[in-house]
Amino acid sequence: MSLMDKLVVWSLPLVPKPIVGYFSKTYIAGSKLEDAVRVVKNLNAQNITGTIDLLGEENHKEEDVVKAVDQYKSVLDAIKAEGLDSGISVKPTHMGWMISKEFCSENISELIEKAASMNIFVRIDMEDHTTTTDTIDMYVKLQEQYGDAVGTVIQSYMRRTSDDINYLIKYKANLRLCKGIYNEPREIAYKDMAIINDNFVFNLEKLLKNGCYVGIATHDEKLVWHALRIIEELNLNKDQYEFQMLLGVDEQLRKIIVDAGHHLRVYVPFGEEWYAYSTRRLKENPKMAGHVFRNIFK
Ligand SMILES: Cc1cc2nc3c(=O)[nH]c(=O)nc-3n(C[C@H](O)[C@H](O)[C@H](O)COP(=O)(O)OP(=O)(O)OC[C@H]3O[C@@H](n4cnc5c(N)ncnc54)[C@H](O)[C@@H]3O)c2cc1C
Repeated sequence: MSLMDKLVVWSLPLVPKPIVGYFSKTYIAGSKLEDAVRVVKNLNAQNITGTIDLLGEENHKEEDVVKAVDQYKSVLDAIKAEGLDSGISVKPTHMGWMISKEFCSENISELIEKAASMNIFVRIDMEDHTTTTDTIDMYVKLQEQYGDAVGTVIQSYMRRTSDDINYLIKYKANLRLCKGIYNEPREIAYKDMAIINDNFVFNLEKLLKNGCYVGIATHDEKLVWHALRIIEELNLNKDQYEFQMLLGVDEQLRKIIVDAGHHLRVYVPFGEEWYAYSTRRLKENPKMAGHVFRNIFK
């Protein structure tokens, strides 16, 4: 962790909420559904697809989960009503995983059922290592039921990732491949960025060679270059993969990818939980805190 990143994490609790809000604005559409709709409309106008994420995680109360499921249903209705080119992303711990796996699976299934009837794609985000096995198991069951209407995520920092991918390839899984954002222990996750990057490329190649649809989720231009190399070597069609980026990050690279004719999707988080989300993410990932801090001086 660089000195500046450490400083940002240390000083975060002292920063007034409106200031955190001001700098989170780049990464979060806003607190209301209409904010997400406005941002996705704007992205669609630039030939970019969205995935709308209602902020929230680690729900321990059933009533909070039910409320979140209802809010996601409103998101689906808005996507349909506004004619948006967008899917949704959901987090297992937001959808009741902490109450029970079964409850979580039922809630996500209910959303996929509705989304599939509207031709809207649902991706199950990957959270920390305590949820990995359950998320993959849940995905496999839901994919058997709903086919291409659902996908999940694999993180290249996890030591288990290659095995997970060997398993998921059998199901022709639809996977977002990212580096991973949680602060995992070394026994579970690689800590060396060079290994995480090599593991990203190694597994991306394996997935694409085996006909899986991959959401290549990175802002790391070297990984984007490797992805383009693999796409060319395998002579893939544009409908066999997509690039994915987070809202507000490296819009120049985003434009370069879109202008080159590749499909690109942007992750659009919104919701009242923006403060908890922003501070938790910034603390978990000091590198991200460093990016935000540097943006202040741009
Ligand atoms: C669409 C999408 C969905 C994701 N879903 C998940 C998920 O389900 N589970 C999960 O664990 N992780 C998820 N992530 C986060 C991911 O795991 C990484 O932590 C994050 O994308 C940063 O990794 P990177 O590949 O961009 O490489 P990095 O090496 O971290 O970043 C490369 C460059 O991108 C820029 N950059 C990266 N992040 C930021 C930022 N936040 N602000 C400003 N600049 C930045 C910097 O210039 C940096 O030098 C997702 C990422 C994306 C793009």
